[in-house]
Amino acid sequence: MMTVQQKLEILADAAKYDASCASSGAKRAGNGQGIGHSDGEGICHSYTPDGRCVSLLKILLTNVCTYDCVFCVNRVSSDIRRARFTPEEVVTLTLDFYKRNYIEGLFLSSGIIQSPDYTMEQLIQVAKTLRLVHKFGGYIHLKTIPGCDASLVRQAGLFADRLSANIELPTQQDLVQLAPEKKSAVIETTMDQIKVQKEEADEDRSRSSLAPKFAAAGQSTQMVVGATPATDREILSTATHLYGSYKLRRVYYTGFSPYPEADTRLPLKAAPLIREHRLYQSDWLMRFYGFEASELTSPDQPSLSLTEDPKTTWAKAHPEFFPVDVNTAPREALLRVPGIGYKNVERILRIRSYHQLELADLRKLHIRVNSSLTYITTVDHSPTIPTVGSSDLEPAAATQMDLFAPLSALTGAL
Ligand code: SF4
Repeated sequence: MMTVQQKLEILADAAKYDASCASSGAKRAGNGQGIGHSDGEGICHSYTPDGRCVSLLKILLTNVCTYDCVFCVNRVSSDIRRARFTPEEVVTLTLDFYKRNYIEGLFLSSGIIQSPDYTMEQLIQVAKTLRLVHKFGGYIHLKTIPGCDASLVRQAGLFADRLSANIELPTQQDLVQLAPEKKSAVIETTMDQIKVQKEEADEDRSRSSLAPKFAAAGQSTQMVVGATPATDREILSTATHLYGSYKLRRVYYTGFSPYPEADTRLPLKAAPLIREHRLYQSDWLMRFYGFEASELTSPDQPSLSLTEDPKTTWAKAHPEFFPVDVNTAPREALLRVPGIGYKNVERILRIRSYHQLELADLRKLHIRVNSSLTYITTVDHSPTIPTVGSSDLEPAAATQMDLFAPLSALTGAL
């Protein structure tokens, strides 16, 4: 019989493949003199709606699964050590960790046991017991099992801050190949139930603050990339569809990494990390910079460049759009200039209402002017107008966004 600690080792390790709650991956052991460390089994970090970074106990209820998704180490045909927590064990672990200040919340997912409904009931039982019996006020992120009954989605949303149903792979065709029990339509039905129930709950709360909250931090999803030949164009198109149809807060892109004795249908090599990074940059451009997915790749060039950021690639392909006059251009045009992030666009708009900007002003805003020089005019700067194919189109240095930088740094980088 396994101890809870042995189960924790297996089920925290099994949960690390789910990126739909962001994890910092920080690892710092205590030195015995100070207090605290970031090395706890299964502890990851995530962001609440108000921007706070919270540490979460990230575990699976079980890595037993009746499905056979080829890309997943927990699939039924995988020869791995299995474990299963009872809901009570997860409740106790969460409360223990919380009282010791190791965590501020719980991220709970699970393999499919018996049926989507049964699995979802088990996950809900954990959240319900924490909330109603122990009055737990910490953050809870529950995985929502696609295909479970709408009434269970409703209950999950009443107890969880965030829900996520994973789309898993970019296209239905990919699911047919690698996750035969999963269907895009079923997954999207669950996403739609979350969206509709959240809208109804938000409307009720606009009339009465006593009405219950439903998944206040919204929903997210995860897509594994690089396990199939799906292109970046297809991946971004699916992400656009999901954002538009189900009001997702985030799509997480996880590069496929091979594991021992994997199915021969899978690639032998891991997806390059930089590909994941370019997808996140593109995702950011779509959500905050007004780019359409279709602008960032083309039918002829369906893959994102691995050597330069997607905004620079777009700028090089559209010399007719530049130069952009920093002192007169509308917000939408400024947002398309490589090296100028959206916070700095707001600052530029504010400053120029009383002062014409020079390059020195941009430097004071910590804009990476070298990246922008080719694309802008200021009072004291006018670029040589480049022609298509000219090497003048090459910016001095391609900007690269650091995904794990603080939000302020990140927004200033693109
Ligand atoms: S449903 Fe598929 S992806 Fe999820 S745990 Fe089971 S095998 Fe893995």
